[in-house]
Parts: sequence; C-alpha cells; structure tokens
Amino acid sequence: MPLFYIFNHGRLLVQHTGDSYNIYSGMECPAFIQCCEPHLFEQTPHTACYVCYTEEEHLPDGYEWVDLRATYYQLPSHIYRQAGKAAEILYFNTHHRYCGICGGSMEWHTPISKRCADCGEEVWPQLSTAIIVLVQRGDEALLVKAKSFRRDFYGLVAGFVETGESLEECVRREVREETGLEITDIRYFGSQPWPYPMGLMVGFHANYVSGDITLADGELREAAFFTRDNLPTIPEKLSMARMLIDDWVGESRS
Ligand SMILES: [Zn+2]
Repeated sequence: MPLFYIFNHGRLLVQHTGDSYNIYSGMECPAFIQCCEPHLFEQTPHTACYVCYTEEEHLPDGYEWVDLRATYYQLPSHIYRQAGKAAEILYFNTHHRYCGICGGSMEWHTPISKRCADCGEEVWPQLSTAIIVLVQRGDEALLVKAKSFRRDFYGLVAGFVETGESLEECVRREVREETGLEITDIRYFGSQPWPYPMGLMVGFHANYVSGDITLADGELREAAFFTRDNLPTIPEKLSMARMLIDDWVGESRS
C-alpha cells in the first residue's frame, strides 16, 4: 500500500492506534486533506512513497500533526528517516520553482530532480554539510553551549563546511574559531541526514593539543571540559551530538 508523507507547516501527519504510531497509507491521499498534489519521491519493490503539503488544520480522531523532529520518538526508525527525505524533497520543491539560469518554470523530471521547461537546466536537492566534533582532553570532553540552542543544554562544537574546504579542515577551523583550541587526531565517527531543513551531519572524534578556551567568534555562550561522571544536560537522543557523547561515555544508544 502506498505511503503518504503529508506535511503542514513543518509538521507531519501521523496516525495512531493505541500506543502505535505510523504514517498514512492508502491508495490515495485521505479524503480529509484538501488541495493536495502528491509527488512520488520513492518507488521501492514493496511500496510507493508520496509527499504532499496541505494547509488543512482539522483532523479526524486518530490523526494528529506532529513536529517532524518529535516523530523520531514515535515512528519506526525507517519511517522517521523516510519522513526526513520527504521533508527535504518538499523543501527542494518549494525553493526551486524557477530556473536560476533563465527564470523559466521548474518541473519535476525524476522523483528527486527538477528540470527547466525552457532551457533544460536540471537541478537536484543540495545538502548543507555540517561537521560536529567531540574533543577529548585526557578523560574529559569539550562541551559547549551555543547561543543558537533552543533549550538549555551543552552540545558539541559544530559548524557548516565552507566551499573549498575538506571535512577535516572544517573540524579544525570550527574548534579554533569557536574555542581557540588546537586539536589533532581527527577520526571519523559517522554521519546522519539532518532534514532541518536540508543537512548532512558528519561526526568526528578529536584530541586536544593546546590552548586555553576563549569564546572568540561569539557563537558560544559557554564552553568547558567535563568528565564522564560530571556531565551537564546533554542533547536529546536523535542528535549526532548525543551519539558522539554516548559513544564517549561508553553507553550504547537505546
Ligand atoms: Zn532555464
């Protein structure tokens, strides 16, 4: 049965039966959704996956709008991941209505690309790549509080990769710019799609070499080294920051 990832202002339509949550599946968009133009963004041997957008607020019993980030805790993990892809496809669609070369109309060409109806220019979704790094000094880790954090917790040094830069160069630069510290032994940890709105997070471990913490570029509110038995409030489970910290602490992710 086809799956429908239906969004409304950054929220995803979820269906619940008892404690079990899932997204809508059916032969077409549900009748209570108006003005919806489903786009087929993924076709597997098992199912077809559609994404669409609606302004509809009212939902029947058994359905609700849930912030995409919060669905991490409710939906099966593969559905959460696919919902992230659907959100990115939707973002791509709304941000590429017109051709950047000639101003013509962009139309879907493949499930994940659009093409200009006039000049033929084809575009694909572009990810913003960001690094995130856990810096170790002996048995301590560098945790930081960024001014941009929405809640009160400590995370890790992170930042967007700049054009012309390697991931390792970005890691070194971000740590230096944000904290004034020099690091070495940068080790790849893992990566994670980050559909808020359109990112790829790449996680690293690294070791401290020298320097005293100075919050130079104004992005951080606080930064300090913490031991495992003296951790402050840390990020929630869905984030790469938390996976790096959990890995360091030696706990497996639940
Ligand atoms: Zn064009």
